[in-house]
Amino acid sequence: MNDRKKLLLIGATTGYQTRVFAEAAERLGFELLLATDRCHVLDDPWGDQAIALRFEEPEAAAEVLAAEARVDGIVAVGDRPAYLAALAAERLGIPYNSADSVLACRNKFIARERFRAAGLLVPHFQRVALAGGPKLAAETAPYPCVLKPLGLSASRGVIRANDPREFAAAFRRIEALLRDPDILRLHDSQDRFLQVESFIEGREFALEGILTRGKLRVLAIFDKPDPLDGPYFEETIYVTPSRQPPETQLEIVRTTESAVKALGLTHGPVHAEMRVNRGGVWMLEVAARPIGGLCARVLPGLEELILRHAAGEDISSVEMARDGAGVMMIPIPREGIYVATEGLEEARTAPGIEDVIITAKEGQKLIPLPEGASYLGFIFARENSPASVERALRASHAKLRFEIAAALPVL
Ligand code: ADP
Repeated sequence: MNDRKKLLLIGATTGYQTRVFAEAAERLGFELLLATDRCHVLDDPWGDQAIALRFEEPEAAAEVLAAEARVDGIVAVGDRPAYLAALAAERLGIPYNSADSVLACRNKFIARERFRAAGLLVPHFQRVALAGGPKLAAETAPYPCVLKPLGLSASRGVIRANDPREFAAAFRRIEALLRDPDILRLHDSQDRFLQVESFIEGREFALEGILTRGKLRVLAIFDKPDPLDGPYFEETIYVTPSRQPPETQLEIVRTTESAVKALGLTHGPVHAEMRVNRGGVWMLEVAARPIGGLCARVLPGLEELILRHAAGEDISSVEMARDGAGVMMIPIPREGIYVATEGLEEARTAPGIEDVIITAKEGQKLIPLPEGASYLGFIFARENSPASVERALRASHAKLRFEIAAALPVL
């Protein structure tokens, strides 16, 4: 008799994070069924084992999963997979977040409404129809403000505006971004709007956690030591453990608990981002998934923990490493064609550095924020204190030089 637990892993592509989860599942002895958005996948590293889904038709995809998969638990990698996972879990009777709660996470307007209703600190916010143009909204916007698409992630399309002129320019830029065929393909009605929020001053943090039937277990709090003041909001350094005083960390945890409850999330990994100033903790967003892609390497054992949790195991006594660790998401300095990186060896062997991974490929078009959706690569550091982790990341980055060729104009 086969008594191995069977888990369903839903991933947007057969990318790095999906592979890491698959390897962790194998180590743990779980049977893994993979479901991916095959339209995006050219190769098929898992042979014909993966279920091909169309993420733009989530209800139909969930039906396919419910019919094909008899599983003990579900893990989703990415925002869209998380919604599909919720729909499938409802049909399969598996503990997971409700579809409604995952949708709320993925819509910045609904999330803000829920935070406000729950009494959390929220900036002034307004949803503006793209069809109406920027003029009227620019007149009434609270400056400085931030304009953002409702359904994108990784700071894509998030732009600060200090006056009506900048507002109009940001509005047009987001409008153009939302006309991108890859975004249009997904037919999200929320992409007919953008959101305007008053700018929240302060420093930024992130929290990685896991929910078990509504109860939050905190796995890490990250400081983001670089100021994120705009006009674009490129993430760079994440360092854990946090150097904030215990009261502030507690406030971050409490606010995340309230935010999770306000959204209705109950079961599975969460990644939350917040700003802290004298007024308190301002939740920016909670995602119903683990920290993205390669960044998860900062927390060794995260995938095992999430898989075991999905399989219904009690993970309360599983410890996470508490040493200083951090990642730098290497920003794209300018638009162009990626050629090469110099100084890689020096950057890799710098003190405290675990690894430097350049994800850009030769010949790849590099698009910086706010339109772009990727980084040049990642630097990982581990040291005895968060301060030395931060120093190590900066010193390693300083050794890298990127050769980027001018993109030829399209004739
Ligand atoms: P995304 O899901 O694309 O990451 P967010 O709403 O989290 O979108 O915004 C991305 C980043 O933009 C945040 O991490 C933060 O640095 C900045 N940001 C967003 N909204 C505000 C705001 N109201 N005030 C200040 N900064 C903001």
